[in-house]
Amino acid sequence: MRNEELWQSVLSEVELQVSRANFLTWLKNSRLIKTDDEAITIALPNHFAKEWVESKYDKLILGIVRNFIASVKKIEYVVEGGMAKSPTQHTRTLVSEKQLSIEEFKVDPDTNLNPRYSLSSFVVGSSNELAYAAASAIIQSVGTKYNPLFIYGGVGLGKTHLIQGVGNEIKTFHKNKIKVKYVTSEKFTNDVVWAIRNKRTEDIKSAYRHVDVLIVDDIQFIGGKEKTEEEFFHTFNALYENNKQIIISSDRPPKSIPILEERLRSRFESGMIADVGFPDYETRVAIIKNKIQEKGASLNDECVDLIAKKISKSIREIEGVLNKVVFYQNAYQKPVSVANIEKIISEIGEKDRTNINPNQIIKAVSGFFEISPGDLTGKSRNKEFIEPRQIAMYLLRDMLDMSYPYIANKIGKRDHTTVIYAYKKLNKDLDQNSSLSDKLKEIKELVNKMG
Ligand code: ADP
Ligand code: MG
Repeated sequence: MRNEELWQSVLSEVELQVSRANFLTWLKNSRLIKTDDEAITIALPNHFAKEWVESKYDKLILGIVRNFIASVKKIEYVVEGGMAKSPTQHTRTLVSEKQLSIEEFKVDPDTNLNPRYSLSSFVVGSSNELAYAAASAIIQSVGTKYNPLFIYGGVGLGKTHLIQGVGNEIKTFHKNKIKVKYVTSEKFTNDVVWAIRNKRTEDIKSAYRHVDVLIVDDIQFIGGKEKTEEEFFHTFNALYENNKQIIISSDRPPKSIPILEERLRSRFESGMIADVGFPDYETRVAIIKNKIQEKGASLNDECVDLIAKKISKSIREIEGVLNKVVFYQNAYQKPVSVANIEKIISEIGEKDRTNINPNQIIKAVSGFFEISPGDLTGKSRNKEFIEPRQIAMYLLRDMLDMSYPYIANKIGKRDHTTVIYAYKKLNKDLDQNSSLSDKLKEIKELVNKMG
């Protein structure tokens, strides 16, 4: 493979694993200039980019390069000016635009709904037919049939797709006369925190009580956040009393959401509750075939069968495999083989880890404790920030293996011994303190959701 093609394929995979902003800032203008048996040389446009890529992405890039040339042990980085117009960039942009047109739809700023989620692209099987039937029934009788509608089930099984799909469908059916709003419970929490800090709780009322359909995703995360629960309770009542539709998703049924106020729990249980489970083999095959068609790609039956057999617990993971399949086909211009699929599937597990970045951890921890990310990483000595900071330090180390000085700099520009102390302390406390381990578990779930 020529350098240019090789680098293009590598970048296509890197792009999947870093944020769009980081990719554009640091990697877009990079170039592969030399390949030896054991080392390859990458040119970057300036010193800053070189240092950044070298310190942040070396491991990731090396891992991906080794998928192509297994003998490579090291990547060298050099600075080379005036590269922006090299031919590589041109071809890169094309691949990237093609990818974008398939994957990124614009979220409607009014409703927060993503038009990519439609009910027509939602495959129905025995695992989700009840939830689908209930959701569909709402479209024509908004607010009067199943209220609230509570959908629950594990990660990656189609809850978000289904509840956003209903939202989109309601808008179309009622020709935009019905006001729909979709939020994650994280966003709702952030809004409440913001309103309290800025003494603008009225804003919550006007934002959330003047809608006809309120859809709240992943409600389980409000458990234990008293102010947010209270605000949500009032919002819920205001809407419910006016026959407005409420649709909620959760990763577990109301009775299993920890530390949820009783009055909210009983509200959630008062309407229709439906679960989504693991899809059976036939449903998985149907989903794979649909998605492949949507992406304008093709896949032979043997490959479809292999994916359906190997991945049974998450439709999101199936989707991840299919995205890679499309990438391979674009990069090599030939159909993937069963062996390719085996390899892609074995890589998926590793990818999940590298998807996480430090800011997601900071966001998750601050969201969990209802403080702002700025306070979490700031210098204030206020007592309420101590625990969140220690947890953030611990997780940066535990989940991402970041260095102590890096963490120290990221969280409050402290001395790195503070980080070592926090890490050791939490490690020790974890054994005896079950509320701490519960907290960490929940925060990790939050982080993984963002990945
Ligand atoms: P959850 O919210 O339960 O974690 P998502 O709704 O985000 O899961 O689904 C994960 C991915 O799988 C999405 O890309 C979604 O479009 C797809 N998906 C899930 N269920 C179905 C289905 N029944 N038919 C088609 N696609 C599905
Ligand atoms: Mg979801």
